[in-house]
Amino acid sequence: MIWWLGLVARAFQASGSAVSAVPLCMATLREQLEARERDILAPQAAKSADSRGRLRPEKEDDVRPAFQRDRDRIIHCKAFRRLKHKTQVFFAPTGDHYRTRLTHTLEVSQIARTIAKVLRLHEELTEAIALGHDLGHTPFGHAGERVIDTLVPGGFNHYEQSLRIVDVLENDGRGLNLTWEVRDGIAKHSKGKSGAPVGLTGTLRASTIEGQIMRVADLIAYVNHDIDDATRAGLLKPEDLPTEPVAILGGSSSARIATLVKDVVTESLAGNLTEIRMSDRVLKAVLDLRSFLFDAVYENTIATAEFKKATGILTGLWEKVRERPEEFLDLKTIENEGHFLAGMTDRYAVRLYEQLFIPKPWAIE
Ligand code: MG
Repeated sequence: MIWWLGLVARAFQASGSAVSAVPLCMATLREQLEARERDILAPQAAKSADSRGRLRPEKEDDVRPAFQRDRDRIIHCKAFRRLKHKTQVFFAPTGDHYRTRLTHTLEVSQIARTIAKVLRLHEELTEAIALGHDLGHTPFGHAGERVIDTLVPGGFNHYEQSLRIVDVLENDGRGLNLTWEVRDGIAKHSKGKSGAPVGLTGTLRASTIEGQIMRVADLIAYVNHDIDDATRAGLLKPEDLPTEPVAILGGSSSARIATLVKDVVTESLAGNLTEIRMSDRVLKAVLDLRSFLFDAVYENTIATAEFKKATGILTGLWEKVRERPEEFLDLKTIENEGHFLAGMTDRYAVRLYEQLFIPKPWAIE
């Protein structure tokens, strides 16, 4: 028996596999998948078995490697389901075809996985970060985030809240206990109005190359779907788009996404996958489109008119909840009123405001 194990181990060494200590016939299904990752993925890719681990140590799953397990935990959490009733750009649109924060998240995930797959990076790690990146978004989009930032002592931003949700708030205060790599990617995804999607250094840059995909995938997704939604809403006509970026990237969403993804992939490969890259020309074109969208859509007075009301709603709720926290907060799981407000969907906030501030007509005849 011992000579046979020795043969198997030598065969693994000969094939260059790093799992020589565990013959496949004895490995769990998870270990077989981990071995497959080493065989298939690029050397620069993150590997499940090399994860820096979880906040609290846990027994490994028999079937799923760590990053796959994290992806599943995010999909099954409550904050993920709430994304379906949170604003992307347009407040509670009645049309069925507008994006919500949930469909935005799915489009980011799709683009990110396309990039990860062709670069032979870890698809499930990429997907987990993408599905978790916007969990901390407030009701009423970025307008809601700005209001909550002024209300909460010490300020508020959605990417820190995304991390707080997966670390603490979900699962009745126990959090999802995700791996370090997924948490790092979620914490470092956000660019803001003028942040760079590539070329970051130091603490701003995700530690895994999978995490670095998120900034470009997020940008590629929202620039294109927001043009589509703004056109649907009558705020834009295709001919309003700036001509130079359109000439470089393409005349339709799908053409632009294809150009952008191809650029990310070829430039990152040319740089030997040391980091996620874009060419200067394509990067400038997409950033020009983003600036155009800020003026034409995100800060457009017609599109943002309803958000002024969001300020009144959130400020009113904040004051009421602070007056009577025991009535609204489960103090075991929600640390403060800001987290309660931030977790609300648009419609929950509107309903609660109506309940607390709008007198009901007398209904008994
Ligand atoms: Mg996003």
